[in-house]
Amino acid sequence: MAQVRLAGIGKTYPDGTSAVSALDLDIAEGEFLVLVGPSGCGKTTALRMIAGLEEITSGTLTIGDRTVNRTPARDRDVAMVFQSYALYPHLSVRDNIAFGLQLRKLPKREIKQRVEAAAETLGLTEHLDRRPRNLSGGQRQRVAMGRAIVRQPQAFLMDEPLSNLDAKLRVQMRAEISRIQRDLGVTTVYVTHDQVEAMTLGDRVAVLKKGVLQQVAAPQELYNHP
Ligand code: ADP
Ligand code: ADP
Repeated sequence: MAQVRLAGIGKTYPDGTSAVSALDLDIAEGEFLVLVGPSGCGKTTALRMIAGLEEITSGTLTIGDRTVNRTPARDRDVAMVFQSYALYPHLSVRDNIAFGLQLRKLPKREIKQRVEAAAETLGLTEHLDRRPRNLSGGQRQRVAMGRAIVRQPQAFLMDEPLSNLDAKLRVQMRAEISRIQRDLGVTTVYVTHDQVEAMTLGDRVAVLKKGVLQQVAAPQELYNHP
């Protein structure tokens, strides 16, 4: 059964722009799916609809066994990592990672355990008491991921998470993301315009062009569209 199912999903913005048309995608539990395509093809819109940050104008979106078209973002069991890491500068790494769990009023002991486990996975254990400004770009990126994985979501959504890193770090973090996703076995939807990134990371790659799905295939089976 698909963990995330997009059935005929479409988005037309209020100004009439058709950003995504009749998108059908079944994302299996534990799968790493990459949405790739040039700027403006509708990747971010599609991801934001899954996250609940953008209203769906047609079709049906299912996460787990729930239809979530009308479910607000905070009630969807998904976690998103943004391009700009959006960390709280005045909070320590520990509190940045814990923030979402504190909002959900989880028991303190469980929060501590989950934050420390996430920090361990991400290699942040020694940095838990530091502030974001004292971290490198790669470390900030890890904290942003820590905030998402600590929630143990049904799906992990990433929008160009490596685009603010230099080329060397990007390659390093790409391998890291791959490892973490496999370790956690978390269903992942990852947006990028970078074809190499898509081919390296994806179990399957979905190619979008002008809001329309062109093909979905394992990287080795992808062919170029004219
Ligand atoms: P991508 O992530 O692939 O760059 P987007 O999903 O950001 O693509 O955008 C898809 C299309 O929708 C583009 O034509 C973009 O200009 C348009 N678009 C995005 N956001 C809005 C908006 N809030 N209002 C109107 N058009 C938008
Ligand atoms: P990306 O390609 O990463 O989506 P963009 O620069 O296309 O980044 O978009 C940045 C922001 O501007 C997004 O929140 C998007 O929804 C919004 N946006 C993009 N195109 C339009 C548009 N034509 N009208 C209004 N908002 C837009």
